[in-house]
Amino acid sequence: MQRFALRQVGLAGLALFLLGLLARTAWTGHVAAAMEGQLKESGRYLKGVTVVVDPGHGGEDPGAVVGGTEEKGLVLEISRMLKEILEQQGATVVLTRDADVSLGGRIRDELGKRVALVSEHKASVFVSIHANKDGCNCWGAQTFYQKKGMPAGKDLALAIQAQLRRLTPTTRTALAANYFVLRTSPVPSAMVEVGFLTNAKEKARLQDPAYQRTVATAVALGLADFFKSQVPQTEAGGAIGQ
Ligand SMILES: [Zn+2]
Repeated sequence: MQRFALRQVGLAGLALFLLGLLARTAWTGHVAAAMEGQLKESGRYLKGVTVVVDPGHGGEDPGAVVGGTEEKGLVLEISRMLKEILEQQGATVVLTRDADVSLGGRIRDELGKRVALVSEHKASVFVSIHANKDGCNCWGAQTFYQKKGMPAGKDLALAIQAQLRRLTPTTRTALAANYFVLRTSPVPSAMVEVGFLTNAKEKARLQDPAYQRTVATAVALGLADFFKSQVPQTEAGGAIGQ
């Protein structure tokens, strides 16, 4: 009798496991379809724009390090995916680094060289990609804009965060902050913290290339939404890239 009951429990467990797997596959498929559909719809707003994508840290500066996982490597992977997705939509993308390197000099000079690429390439926006570390077991992607900075910077961060909320589990909202690269950039700029390496579940997610691509796509869609929202101003000779 007991053996029979055990078998029943085992079968129920297996059924639940399979159901879970099915639900996960359906969800992943749903997200992928939503991403593709929207890229088709709003991707055209990325055509012809120039974006500086800044993978944070690099070289001797690993950024956040948790259990052997380094922020600098993770954000480079996501930034490369973002570049690829944006280029597929006809954008020009300048990476501030495309290897495990520092741009050289002391911290402010090094960051200044990253921002200088905006003017050098006449870019319309600057997006810095980072990963977070905290003692609070916090999780969730979050976008920042410069406090008391240009209004379009806030618009950009809000647009990216809205897509991150749609495509990733985050419930966070875009926040004002005071970061050197955002403060000194001459164009609308945002910093995306893709998640917390200190949260074990999120750290595992962030190491999954499929999830990295989801994050990159969310940022790309946020950029598309931003450019779409700026179209009337651009046509009237407005603020973008001026
Ligand atoms: Zn960082």
